[in-house]
Amino acid sequence: MTQALPFIDLKTQYALLKQSIDARIQTVLNHAQYIMGPEVAEMERKLAEYVGVRHCVSVSSGTEALLISLMALGVGPGDEVITSPFTFAATAEVIVLVGATPVFVDIEPDTYNIDTALVEQAITHKTRAIIPVSLYGQTSDMLALQAIADRHGLPIIEDAAQSLGATHHGRRSSGLSKFGCVSFFPSKPLGCYGDGGALLTDDDRLAQIAREIRTHGQERRYWHTRIGVGGRMDTLQCAIVLAKLERFEWEIDQRIALGQQYLELLAGHNAIGLPTVRRGNTCVWAQFTVRVADREAVVSALGAKGIPTAVHYPVPLHKQPAYASLCRMGSPLPQSELAAETVLSLPFHPYLSADTQHMIAAALRDSVA
Ligand SMILES: *Cc1c(COP(=O)(O)O)cnc(C)c1O
Repeated sequence: MTQALPFIDLKTQYALLKQSIDARIQTVLNHAQYIMGPEVAEMERKLAEYVGVRHCVSVSSGTEALLISLMALGVGPGDEVITSPFTFAATAEVIVLVGATPVFVDIEPDTYNIDTALVEQAITHKTRAIIPVSLYGQTSDMLALQAIADRHGLPIIEDAAQSLGATHHGRRSSGLSKFGCVSFFPSKPLGCYGDGGALLTDDDRLAQIAREIRTHGQERRYWHTRIGVGGRMDTLQCAIVLAKLERFEWEIDQRIALGQQYLELLAGHNAIGLPTVRRGNTCVWAQFTVRVADREAVVSALGAKGIPTAVHYPVPLHKQPAYASLCRMGSPLPQSELAAETVLSLPFHPYLSADTQHMIAAALRDSVA
């Protein structure tokens, strides 16, 4: 095997959806309403229905969704927001951008999600929100987290950038808390062909505030009642999400089955640490991520066989130069640090064939033998 495999295969998906995607794009070119065209409202309606909440507000990226959710909740200077340090930087970036302080709480070693047992002790009189990250495609223990949040009157914003399509006790990720924030970055479970994102909420007032913030704080045209951002999602990107929704349920089933298959193919090896899917959860595997002790050796052994890998994420945020002095440790963070040193993501997408998956699993087992 010398020809490199794709880490994520968007070309096969496009080949299968070409007719719908091309037709959707052509429709937008014909009506020429590139900003807030009819596909925007259609996509928002369909996504809200899919998630099972009253409102979807499409925005220009997952990062913007997180930022707007904090702005809508009025989080600002002097406030603290509790989150995980083992995530993409955007989660903490938006906290700093609104002038608040990220307070990092450690993760569970087998789900990589925030350890809910450590959250309550990190709450202070300055805490204004909790942002659990549904990393790799499954949610945190949102029921436990909601109980803690309720005791302290705090809103939860789920960073669901990697988990759209996953369920927690039968309810969909991004519809479990005050706000759910999703990303349509191309490699996410539901991707567009550029940047895009959405906020999901059941709260009528917060949905309206988020809509206004998305468009420069306008209550109506050229009447600005709050400070907002330029955060709209393009009509064309909404059109692409609409076309991709046709296969999304199938792709989610495929993701769940392929994740289970990887777990079975890799089980029973001491040198390969496997993730756990918690009882009550389904996982959509935005990344299929294992742990290995000698990551560099495994990366090069797999690379020699044409198998690409990636590290999500190599440095926890409390160790990043930009964040080290701006954050507070809400707990010791040993699991986050250990995860950053050992995690390795394998090729994963809904179009992975059984043969390819067997080949990847065998190569990984050989590399740690
Ligand atoms: C991708 C991602 C984001 C940011 O989404 P963008 O659409 O790229 O802005 C935020 N949080 C997590 C956990 C992500 O994976």
